[in-house]
Amino acid sequence: MIDKWWSERPSIKLSELNPISHGIEGRLGRSPDAVPRILLLGGTGEAAELAAQLASRNDLEFISSFAGRVSCPKYPIGAVRVGGFGGIEGLISYLIMESISVVIDATHPFSVGISRNSEVACARLGLPLIALVRPAWQKQKNDLWHEVITYADAAEFVNRKKGRVFLSIGRQEVGSFAACNDAWFLIRAIEAPTGQLPRHHEILLQRGPFDLKEESQLLRDYSIDHIVSKNSGGSGTYTKIEAARLLGIPVVMVQRPTKHTASAVETVDQVVTELTALLTRTVQDGKQRKEAR
Ligand code: NAP
Repeated sequence: MIDKWWSERPSIKLSELNPISHGIEGRLGRSPDAVPRILLLGGTGEAAELAAQLASRNDLEFISSFAGRVSCPKYPIGAVRVGGFGGIEGLISYLIMESISVVIDATHPFSVGISRNSEVACARLGLPLIALVRPAWQKQKNDLWHEVITYADAAEFVNRKKGRVFLSIGRQEVGSFAACNDAWFLIRAIEAPTGQLPRHHEILLQRGPFDLKEESQLLRDYSIDHIVSKNSGGSGTYTKIEAARLLGIPVVMVQRPTKHTASAVETVDQVVTELTALLTRTVQDGKQRKEAR
């Protein structure tokens, strides 16, 4: 679903553009009074929340972007595009062609590739980037966490323990556990993982959020000895961590990668505040320049 205004842009050839001049005010091919266009990199609950908030504003236009990983996605309100950009160069071309003024990176805390690409692309074009990374979960009293850096570390650990493992890391990284022949895995994901899987497993296709009662029952029903989880943060998948605490089940917690070199904000409200301040400054600067002419 692509909103009308977004598909009816004037077409501009890349060769006609000078990327260096394409800053927040360099909306090529558009009137200087046109409202700024925002690219919202999504795929998270926070991005959907942001889309809902931005949709009610008339001082900006925005488009939500998705990688297209799931076949039945829930799209947020507003314009949407789906699929990779084609690396840094592809993203730069997209930002120029679509006259984007600001990028908001609200992707998942473990989505490093798109975050690094957006940081480089924005730096090259002189575009502001607002990065949102929800806070990590913190270990609470009675949590039995074994923290690891990589999925390979987690695989080595649970295979050595030889028990029954609840693998709750999505489907992309399941291959890291393919050589674990000594443990049994309950693999939960929204869509079935492809590629090599551990020898002993069952697949459970479910989409969160999950409530605490159901999560506790699941862990009991499958006699789970260990949970493997990413430290995703947020409330959507936290009930499995609470259930593990209540039942005394150890959690092998994969630590977060570093997504950005610049600082990030932690909440949707902070993004909105930062964006509003940025747009206000831009309008004021524009007015001052007009008056000075
Ligand atoms: P990633 O490893 O950071 O990105 C790999 C490539 O996928 C990127 O280089 C980019 O391709 C494309 N891509 C990623 N996010 C995109 C977006 N929002 N719009 C357009 N292209 C995107 O990403 P990932 O971890 O696979 O996550 C993919 C999507 O799933 C993200 O939107 C993320 O928010 C969501 N998600 C991820 C997880 C997770 O655990 N990783 C969990 C929940 C949701 P090009 O280089 O071709 O541009």
